[in-house]
Amino acid sequence: MTLDEYFKKRNFKKTPEPKGEIKTRESENPIFVIQKHQARHLHYDLRLEMDGVLKSWAVPKEPPAKEGVKRLAVQTEDHPIDYANFEGVIEEGQYGAGTVEIWDKGDFELMERTDNKIIFNINGEKLKGAYCLIRFKPKEQPKNWLFFKKKGK
Ligand code: MN
Repeated sequence: MTLDEYFKKRNFKKTPEPKGEIKTRESENPIFVIQKHQARHLHYDLRLEMDGVLKSWAVPKEPPAKEGVKRLAVQTEDHPIDYANFEGVIEEGQYGAGTVEIWDKGDFELMERTDNKIIFNINGEKLKGAYCLIRFKPKEQPKNWLFFKKKGK
């Protein structure tokens, strides 16, 4: 695990984003955040605390609060855990230029995790319950996942 790609993409003299570091917080429930990112294209950045970082996916449309809607979620570089509190404006010319605001936040319980599948029970304000992330073409498009609410019991 590494934040090299996160560091490489950013100039911390010019972005208000946190530099952060890899951290493990085993005593608490892992956190999640979804940041609404009004960049060149509006998207929602889903981030889950795993392995000392925030595993991250860019979701081009609003994340589904209900079953039956599947969203594409494109995996992006790991972010530091401190990023979960970040809101602000990244100026023109910087990576991810635009406005970042927290859309939902809370913690989650990891239910299942394999290379191509993550199932977790999310405890947010907008999103609640069991959600799935599935890598649907692991070989051809390893960054592309589907994000959706798991069918109810
Ligand atoms: Mn983004």
